[in-house]
Amino acid sequence: MERIKTIGLVAHDARKRDMMEWVRANAEKLSAHKMICTGTTGRLIKEMFDTEHPELPINIELLKSGPLGGDQQMGALIAGGKVDVLIFFTDPMTTQPHDVDVKALMRICSVYDTVIVCTKATADFVIASPLFESAYESAKYDYGSYLERELRCD
Ligand code: PGA
Repeated sequence: MERIKTIGLVAHDARKRDMMEWVRANAEKLSAHKMICTGTTGRLIKEMFDTEHPELPINIELLKSGPLGGDQQMGALIAGGKVDVLIFFTDPMTTQPHDVDVKALMRICSVYDTVIVCTKATADFVIASPLFESAYESAKYDYGSYLERELRCD
C-alpha cells in the first residue's frame, strides 16, 4: 500500500459516538488520506468535517448503509485491493440483522491481509504507527493451489 491510504470506516449504531470521537481526535491525520464509509457512518463523518473543519479538504466516499449492502460493497472494495485499512467499530452487545456481512468483512480482510481494527484502542495504536504514514507491503498469499484444485463434477 502507498503512503496515502484508503481507509474504510464503519460503525454500528452503538459505536457511532465512539467513532465520531475518534475521527474528531484524528481529523487532521485522516484528512490526508482517502476515506470510504458505509452510508450513515459516512454522513456523520462528512457533517463533522463540514461543520468543524471546513478548512480541511477531505476525500470521502459514501457507500450504501451497512445493513442495506454497504458492508458488502466495502467487502468488494477490499477484495479488489481498494481499501488499505478498515476501521470497523462493532457492537459486541447486539446481534446485528446483517451479522453475516460483518463476519464476511472480517474474513475478507484475512484473505488479503488488510489492516482491520475493531476497537478504539487498536485504532489509536494503528494511527500512531509510523507505518500509517509510510508505504507498506502486505502479505501476498498464494491461492493458486486452491484455484487449481481438482474438482470432479461428473
Ligand atoms: P451505517 O452501517 O454506517 O450505514 O450505519 C454500519 C453497519 O454496517 O452497520
